Amino acid sequence: MTELAVRLENVSKVFIGDRQEDTPALEAIDLAVSDRAFVSLIGPSGCGKSTLLRIIGDLVPPSSGTVQVNGKSARQARLDRDYGMVFQAATLYEWRTVGRNIQLPLEVMGVERHQQREIVREVLSTVDLTDFEHHYPWQLSGGMQQRVSIARALAYRPALLLMDEPFGALDEMSRERLNLELLQLHGETGTTVLFVTHSITEAVFLSTQVVVMSPRPGRITEIVSIDLPYPRTAETRESVEFFNLTTQVREALHAGHS
Ligand code: ADP
Ligand code: MG
Repeated sequence: MTELAVRLENVSKVFIGDRQEDTPALEAIDLAVSDRAFVSLIGPSGCGKSTLLRIIGDLVPPSSGTVQVNGKSARQARLDRDYGMVFQAATLYEWRTVGRNIQLPLEVMGVERHQQREIVREVLSTVDLTDFEHHYPWQLSGGMQQRVSIARALAYRPALLLMDEPFGALDEMSRERLNLELLQLHGETGTTVLFVTHSITEAVFLSTQVVVMSPRPGRITEIVSIDLPYPRTAETRESVEFFNLTTQVREALHAGHS
C-alpha cells in the first residue's frame, strides 16, 4: 500500500455569513495525495482552491469530513511541522536579511545556532540565491523574493509543500525558471507537493496529477493523470503529449463551468 501524504474524505466547508448569505465553498471533496506525488489544483477563481489548501494546513477548520496529513490530524501535522506553506505574495520581514528571514522559523523551533546557519546556506543554494544571504528583501526582484519564501518553507525540510499560486505574480520568464527549479527539487528530495495554480500549462508541466475543480460550491470534477516522462524540459512543452494533456485539462475545466 502506498503511503498517503494527504487524505480528505467527504470534506465540505461553508463560510457562515455575518450579514450576508452563507458561502458554500467546498462540497464532498475526496482527495488522496500519495507520497512523492506532485498534485496541482486548478479551477476558476472562487472555486475553493485556497480554502482547500488552508484546511489541509489547519488554518481553516472544515465544516464536515475528515482530513489526514501524513496519517495524522491536520492539527497534529501542523504542530509537528510536517509541511511548509508558500503563498502568492512573498511574506518576508523587510527588516531582516534574506538569511535571517529563512532562519526565523528555525530560531522559533530552537534549532541549534550553527545548524541554523548550515541549513540557511543549504536552502539558499537550492534556490540559487547563495550570494544574497546578506541582502534585504527590498533589494531583490519579486521572483527572487518568492524564491526566498520557498527557501524558508524548505528550511525545516517538510515532507510536504503546500503552495498557493506561488508564481502567480511573476513574469513568464521567472515563472518558467522557477517551474524548472521546483521540478528538480521535487525529483531530488521526493517532497510531496500540493500546488494551486490558474495556469493549465504550468499544472500539466509540473504535475503527476491535475485536480480540476468547479465553483459554487467547489467540487472536484476530474483528476487527470499526467504521464509525461522525466526529466521534463523545455522540449516537453512542445510535445504532442503535452498539447493533448493541456487540451484534456482545458476541456475538463470548461465542462465543470457550464
Ligand atoms: P480560490 O482560491 O479558488 O479562488 P477561495 O478558496 O479563496 O477560492 O474561496 C472560495 C469561496 O469561499 C469564495 O466564494 C470566497 O468568497 C469564499 N471565502 C473564502 N474565504 C472566506 C472567508 N474567510 N470568509 C468568507 N468567505 C470566504
Ligand atoms: Mg485562491
